[in-house]
Amino acid sequence: MASRVAATVNGGEAGVAVSAAAPSQTAPSAPRVFLDPQNDEAARLLDGIDTLILDCDGVLWTGSKTIAGAPEALQLLRDQGKRLRFVTNNSSKSRAQYVSKFRGLGIEADASEVMSSSYGAAAYLQSIGFGISLQPGKKVLLLGPEGVEHELALAGVPFVAARGLGLPIYDSPDAMLRMEVDTGIGAVVVGLRELPGCFLVATNTDDFDYIGGGRTMPGTGCIVAAVETASGSKAVNVGKGGPWLFPFLCSSLGLDPARTAVVGDRLDTDIALAREGGMLAILPLTGVATLDDALAAPPCKAPDAVVSSVAALAGL
Ligand SMILES: [Mg+2]
Repeated sequence: MASRVAATVNGGEAGVAVSAAAPSQTAPSAPRVFLDPQNDEAARLLDGIDTLILDCDGVLWTGSKTIAGAPEALQLLRDQGKRLRFVTNNSSKSRAQYVSKFRGLGIEADASEVMSSSYGAAAYLQSIGFGISLQPGKKVLLLGPEGVEHELALAGVPFVAARGLGLPIYDSPDAMLRMEVDTGIGAVVVGLRELPGCFLVATNTDDFDYIGGGRTMPGTGCIVAAVETASGSKAVNVGKGGPWLFPFLCSSLGLDPARTAVVGDRLDTDIALAREGGMLAILPLTGVATLDDALAAPPCKAPDAVVSSVAALAGL
């Protein structure tokens, strides 16, 4: 049954940025597994697919290291006429900064092909008319990286960044009682009960990030959870795993879910996005999720196929 997917803010007060009819979630009975490098069957997964939504961390690179065969695979897929879009929950960079990273790793990409969650946060706030029709005259308090600053500035969303502000330290009850509240803040990633009407925007709610070498670090979701608890508000997640992204991708890219594949290394974000949108879900084993994770996943997070890497999808 088709269902409406809509992004809402604080129970729907701010309305819906974009919405689209989502196909029903069709879960595979068991993922098809392609791990034999001598077998080019994995490449046939993309027959009938004209758009690939590719995750970046754990698919194209790990930290500052390119995953073997990824640049060549992307070029081959382009040569086959596939449309590539790079959709990442990592908000550390703007789209322009991502293009520099791509090129530094030997991958050609255009800013129009990049959909980072830093851009998503700015696009979301712009789409709801923040600072104009919604919370007129107010600004965003950003608790986030430089990439989001760049995208908010490009979108014309007024903001003040906590990063580098030299904010005072409240290290005692007396100091906290002297804390001043800026009533010009209308949307924050740090919310306080003293600011009624503020809402929270999360670039993602990932619980951890894989940084290579078998090591992980706490992800943005840890900060979001702390802020949600402190503010008593629920954040709008504009990244993969949240309700806003798929309708936005549909409207901005003109996606045909039946001809689109999502390639990503996380079940709770990449594969969940594919399941939500009725798109082909492909898990490469170069990042977070393992084959055992894929085989044990619930239907809403189960991939259609597991491949050794993105290179296998190009027959490399
Ligand atoms: Mg990833």
